[in-house]
Amino acid sequence: ALRVTGLSKSYGTHTVLRDITVDVRAGETLCLIGPSGSGKSTLLKCLNLLETPDNGEIWLGETHLTAPGADVDAARARIGMVFQHFNLFPHMSVERNVSIALTSVKGLPRDRARETALRRLAEVGLEAFADRRPSQLSGGQQQRVAIARALAMQPDVMLFDEATSALDPELVKDVLAVMRDLAAGGMTMAVVTHEMGFAREAADRVAFMCDGRLAEIDTPGRIFERAENPRLRQFLSQVL
Ligand code: ATP
Ligand code: MG
Repeated sequence: ALRVTGLSKSYGTHTVLRDITVDVRAGETLCLIGPSGSGKSTLLKCLNLLETPDNGEIWLGETHLTAPGADVDAARARIGMVFQHFNLFPHMSVERNVSIALTSVKGLPRDRARETALRRLAEVGLEAFADRRPSQLSGGQQQRVAIARALAMQPDVMLFDEATSALDPELVKDVLAVMRDLAAGGMTMAVVTHEMGFAREAADRVAFMCDGRLAEIDTPGRIFERAENPRLRQFLSQVL
């Protein structure tokens, strides 16, 4: 569903992504792992067009996102993104945080937008919290609201960048459970994570990034049990 070919990105003289070719297949969960600074976040930002690649192409289905004159806003609306910091609007209710883009971007009437928001909140186990403010929720609950907000737009693909890294350990589990449900439900997902347990269980494939390159991509079994690449073995010995 999402296809990247020959993607490169530099900041000044510092090359951050080198000739990345990868696809996230329809319904697949692809986990991206690798050392700090290896380019995982930059790759996700390129996929979401928050960063402009220097070279290479990105296709979402039949749409060439990096074509000159491509409708970037329309493309972004098809890609849901969840970051480490969830950036909910503090002055709006939980429900309004989820429904705001439905009224302002999609032009839905208020009552239909609320209905959709409540459905999405139910999916992440938070329907009862709809009329609270974000500050009245735990970090894990706020992150689940951010996921519901992304899902409300009915994206073709969901991108997660260390969605659980800012959370207290006891809150991580509920967020991972929501992500696991999404993966099992057939959502197409690219997930940058330090949670190797999640990658092992929920990923269809795992990609290992190192020095701006996509060094390995394979099934979790082959990545975690039968890795031969020395850089991957070294990385795994540090995180497992
Ligand atoms: P982490 O696991 O720590 O989140 P990462 O794999 O996500 O790391 P990136 O954030 O993609 O790594 O960064 C890759 C490299 O690009 C790093 O060396 C970083 O310093 C550099 N970099 C990222 N964003 C910028 C920027 N806006 N300007 C200059 N350099 C940047
Ligand atoms: Mg990062």
